[in-house]
Amino acid sequence: MDYENFFGEEINKLKAEGNYRVFAELERHAGYFPDASRHIDNKKNEVTVWCSNDYLGMGQHPDVLKTMKNTIDQVGAGSGGTRNISGTSHQHVMLERELANLHSKEAALLFTSGYVANDAALSTLASQMPNSVLLSDEYNHASMIAGVRNSRAEKRIFKHNNVNHLEELLRKIEPERPKIIVFESIYSMDGDIAPIAKICDLAEKYNAMTYIDEVHAVGMYGPRGGGVAERDGQMDRITIIQGTLAKAFGVVGGYIAASEKIIDFIRSKASGFIFTTSLPPAIAAAAMASVCHVRDEGKTKREKHQERVAKLKNLLEQAGLPIMPSVSHIVPIMVGDPIICKQVTDDLLDRYGIYVQPINYPTVPKGTERLRLTPSPIHTDEDMNHLVKALVEIWGRLALQWAA
Ligand SMILES: *Cc1c(COP(=O)(O)O)cnc(C)c1O
Repeated sequence: MDYENFFGEEINKLKAEGNYRVFAELERHAGYFPDASRHIDNKKNEVTVWCSNDYLGMGQHPDVLKTMKNTIDQVGAGSGGTRNISGTSHQHVMLERELANLHSKEAALLFTSGYVANDAALSTLASQMPNSVLLSDEYNHASMIAGVRNSRAEKRIFKHNNVNHLEELLRKIEPERPKIIVFESIYSMDGDIAPIAKICDLAEKYNAMTYIDEVHAVGMYGPRGGGVAERDGQMDRITIIQGTLAKAFGVVGGYIAASEKIIDFIRSKASGFIFTTSLPPAIAAAAMASVCHVRDEGKTKREKHQERVAKLKNLLEQAGLPIMPSVSHIVPIMVGDPIICKQVTDDLLDRYGIYVQPINYPTVPKGTERLRLTPSPIHTDEDMNHLVKALVEIWGRLALQWAA
């Protein structure tokens, strides 16, 4: 085996398919979100970022920065251990209490990321409950798929957001078997939202647990930023709510919130929780500042956010661009080809100073490559007009498909 040759050939294949990933090298400037510098070929130029998951700009909020800096001065950089061995800081415990409160659950548990939270929680639950079955939405995020796979439990995949199909599958499972319905509230590549209440109806009818990923909703939906389940009045019907501190909360880390017994169980059994160093206390403290700010003062930001999103969708629609029918803050534009998609985003960057990362396989299925715009409350009318004008010019230049 010629190892180097093997890896080189695989990379060449990716390049030929248009699926080779090129990262934009950014330098964010605190206080100037969504503007940033982009480094390329030893030069740097200014760009407006249109694809950040720091949805509300909280990653640069003065309270968050101040708390992070102060905590470092008080307690140092790292936590010094795993949660079990000297790594449980006061800041972790306080944040877990706050997150439990945010979701009106008895308890919460922190993980180093949202990915790890999904993988660790799902794999532990399903592998530990004898004879369990996972019912998983076909569009679930890679981290949930990893959890489902790693549990080695039986799984059934239901059609995306399709409660009829879900019920068909539930009906065929022996009633006494443990069942977990695994889904997201907002699907982050299409921007559609799950029928949470209907899924909970089925969970109650068939005695299944529910596990919801609210990663793209926490901080942004619901009166306190508790997510879509809070907005829809369904939080108490969901068994386990999972979220991230890295997107609307602007820091890093993941968590689940649930009953005390479930949290205690996962805390005691999940390898991905137990055998890794806990988050730096300054991260936990900064996340806490962000969660509290967004809970108490975020209403204006959330309203402004929705207003900006509606405005952008409207402008794009009027311009005849093929936006996908999203009902959330995510604004996808279908391109349908990886090479053209990359051409569009290269053009945006090089000619217009607009940064939108092309979304390609394996993030989305082949043939559905797209642009994914995430307007924030801070993007201005001017930013939007510049973006729409640029897209219209590019669409014309490359003779791309307009909206039907
Ligand atoms: C980003 C994402 C995650 C992972 O969260 P991180 O905190 O970034 O690891 C989990 N689920 C979904 C749906 C995501 O989009």
